[in-house]
Amino acid sequence: MRSTGDNCAVFAIVKDTDCAEDIYRGLDFLQHRGQQFCGIATYDEKRIYLITHYGQVGNTFTSHELETFKGNMGIGHVSLKERQPMMWQGAVGEIAVAFSGNIINSEALLTEMKDRGEAFYHGLDIEIISKLILQEKNVVTGISMLAEKIKGSYSLVVLTEQGIYAARDVYGFRPLVLGEGSGAYLVSSESRAIQNTGINRFRDVRPGEVVFITRKGVETKKQLKSPRRAHCAFEWAYTASMDSKIDGLYVQEARNNLGKCLAERDIEEGGLQADLVAPVPMSGIGHALGYHMKSGLPYQEVFLYNRYADRSYTQLTQEDRDRMAKKKLSVLRYALRDKRIVLCDDSIVRGTQIREKVRELKNAGAKEVHVRIACPPLMYPCDFGISTRTYKELLAREYLANGNITTLDELKALETWVSEKIGADSVRYNSLEAFVGALKISKEHLCLKCWDGILPLT
Ligand code: SF4
Repeated sequence: MRSTGDNCAVFAIVKDTDCAEDIYRGLDFLQHRGQQFCGIATYDEKRIYLITHYGQVGNTFTSHELETFKGNMGIGHVSLKERQPMMWQGAVGEIAVAFSGNIINSEALLTEMKDRGEAFYHGLDIEIISKLILQEKNVVTGISMLAEKIKGSYSLVVLTEQGIYAARDVYGFRPLVLGEGSGAYLVSSESRAIQNTGINRFRDVRPGEVVFITRKGVETKKQLKSPRRAHCAFEWAYTASMDSKIDGLYVQEARNNLGKCLAERDIEEGGLQADLVAPVPMSGIGHALGYHMKSGLPYQEVFLYNRYADRSYTQLTQEDRDRMAKKKLSVLRYALRDKRIVLCDDSIVRGTQIREKVRELKNAGAKEVHVRIACPPLMYPCDFGISTRTYKELLAREYLANGNITTLDELKALETWVSEKIGADSVRYNSLEAFVGALKISKEHLCLKCWDGILPLT
């Protein structure tokens, strides 16, 4: 079966001593980006060792396995949909490859490559990427060719006998960060996996940059021309962990700003009479804190998060996500009897989860529940690696079959409809304009396709 998209993360390290434990810990810090599969590959001057598992890093890799990994450089991957890294033999020697992202034109590439005589195991995106790289005489040329062939997103790590290559597509859709310190050089999909090793020197890999990492350091091997940046705006609102910094912007700061914007709108519209502001944990926390800062309303937890439940958004189907959402939150009844609650969350996909949360709060005695959503209404599926929705799953599409919400009046009409659908006393989303303003990144440097439907590819 072909993958149709992937939530995932990569990690890589070069250091003076064995590195398997470091990769294991790094992947553990990236686990929120995909829990279905995980894998590690290391190189010990003779050969590449590779193990992949079905499940989470902490539940699958044994201490015995970690001891069998040899070598002071290696890469790792966590994923929702496919096993990575993959290992290959080619003219460039033995390599292992892992990536985060999604190839939009994979079907066309597969047909073209099969017609040329290439064979595939499953036709996964990682196979296409690896084979495109291996077609060239050296890895840098191979990676550079991806920009010409691939329509889509990729943050990539390639383990070779000489060192590790890391690269980001020319738009910079998915994050990729380089770190350095304590005799180690690291690459990670999010800075948290670097910061939490105690290393504070890190920078984003630039869109189109190809770097080579050895024990001597990091060298930029190529800087491909970037037609424009298109950083995924959803990273700051939901996907990334709140302790990460992506393309110069702290995720926590972004979420606080988005919450403040929601409060500003309530203030502008005459002020909302409420007793407390609360998050839908975990991704609603930063938004609720921002709302609290701007409005002055007391911040209060009304749900207890079950830390042993998987993250709902990285389940494969919406049904799985709904089931998981029920498992992961329980109502804190003491806090909410007769209270008017402002409930903050990152986004509404189908509306089933937020409707359930509103119902639970009201059943437990809440007097009113006013839902505040950091993202504008989701109108389009993602083509670039967030494989979690289709048109028919989007609640806003049930309201508006075609076109976009462009004016505040249209947004207000949708909000009234959604509040009835989910049983809330009111609903407010950030408008697209407010959303972009809160991120403080130029609209031209963001992918906003979830909301405006524009594929930011030239
Ligand atoms: S379509 Fe949405 S989720 Fe996908 S990359 Fe663009 S902003 Fe991110």
